[in-house]
Amino acid sequence: MTASTEQRARSYRVRTYGCQMNVHDSERLAGLLEAAGYVPARAEATPDVIVFNTCAVRENAENRLYGNLGALRPLKREHPGMQIAVGGCLAQKDRAEITRRAPWVDVVFGTHNISSLPVLLERARHNDAAQVEIVESLEVFPSALPAKRDAAHSAWVSISVGCNNTCTFCIVPALRGKEVDRRPGEVLAEIKALVAEGVLEVTLLGQNVNAYGVAFGDRRAFGALLRACGGIEGLERVRFTSPHPRDFTSDVIEAMAATPNVCHQLHMPLQSGSDAVLAAMRRSYRAQRYLKIVDEVRAAMPDAALSTDIIVGFPGETEADFQATLDVVRQARFAQAFTFQYSRRPGTPAADMAGQMPKAIVQERYERLVALQEEISWELNRSLIGSVVEVLVSEGEGRKDPLTHRMSGRARDGRLVHFEPGGFEVRAGDVVLAEITYGAPHHLVSEVALRAHRRTAAGDAWAAGRGPTTPGVVLGLPSFGGPAR
Ligand code: SF4
Repeated sequence: MTASTEQRARSYRVRTYGCQMNVHDSERLAGLLEAAGYVPARAEATPDVIVFNTCAVRENAENRLYGNLGALRPLKREHPGMQIAVGGCLAQKDRAEITRRAPWVDVVFGTHNISSLPVLLERARHNDAAQVEIVESLEVFPSALPAKRDAAHSAWVSISVGCNNTCTFCIVPALRGKEVDRRPGEVLAEIKALVAEGVLEVTLLGQNVNAYGVAFGDRRAFGALLRACGGIEGLERVRFTSPHPRDFTSDVIEAMAATPNVCHQLHMPLQSGSDAVLAAMRRSYRAQRYLKIVDEVRAAMPDAALSTDIIVGFPGETEADFQATLDVVRQARFAQAFTFQYSRRPGTPAADMAGQMPKAIVQERYERLVALQEEISWELNRSLIGSVVEVLVSEGEGRKDPLTHRMSGRARDGRLVHFEPGGFEVRAGDVVLAEITYGAPHHLVSEVALRAHRRTAAGDAWAAGRGPTTPGVVLGLPSFGGPAR
């Protein structure tokens, strides 16, 4: 360590890959580092510590990580005090393999011990040796750790971590362990504290949110939690991700419809519309059951926007299986679908299944599915022309486009809306009412004067620079929708 790094606070940057669970963990990593005296690195500066929060779900995750680590090697030679830490699912999976392949990495930590990061960094510097520490079960529930949130107006709130299911394509249970639920009182206390800081919107987060309560023996705990959120004054929007169709019960739909601050948005992974493929995926619902939930949601909330995740080309998927998926997509009429081409994930049962599909067939089916979904999304978005929607102006999306002067945010149903602020001084975190004049497949546009603008405490925080302006957490992938599956 040089004299200059000893005298000033060490700076950090976190790079995040993968799902919302990782985005949320990164907020905790940033909070932990700041509590330990680190400061966010300026955008143009070389940080003293770079943390990679990795994902093992996405395709080519390994190649990407080792590519990034390789690119940092010369930088590390130039800045000998710099440290590189690798955490997240890929670290949990690959462990000491990471320091074997990239010996210039200083710290490797897993998904269960993110709280160890500051200590491991310190120990690596003190001992001048890489530290690899992976534990097999959760040490501290992540929400008990300090957080550096990425937005002033909205926050993730973990209600559970881990998953008790065993979907054959998914590495999550192996890396995140069995489901652990937080007590409702703790969750609600965290939400109240966030609202007191100006947060307007929370997203309840878990691998399988509607299994919430299984750990403390209350099967109706998730619906009750939604209703309890309704009693928190100042909390304007409640979302959640992701439910599993198997555990989706009517009481959750009733709670959504009866609780005014719960948004009429539902992200519910379908994965396949073929019963045979669902069985091979070890997803214990069937297409009819999925569609029944959709009908029930629509009956209770006709304005609900539904989104989903779909995997194309699962081992053994026939053209008839794929047609069944297209049928469900036609019937469910999703506002948005996150479509993935199946690719083998080492360590998952599906990776060893017979019937792995040729890439060309998967690609061709994928394109047909995307084309159908685009058509539906576009049609649904066009049907909203003329309606007036409430938009919570988003961080990052909240800056004016220098050419069009448009700003952006999310409607209550989760749709992305671009609008023209006109004479209003709109800040990220503020709320506006916008009339929709154009519907594109992936967003809505309002090109007329705003109907209303409400200044919020989150907007004040953003304007004062306490919001998103500190580049503490850098996202490696766009994130909207459910956890990467
Ligand atoms: S896909 Fe979701 S429900 Fe299935 S094992 Fe993975 S995390 Fe659990």
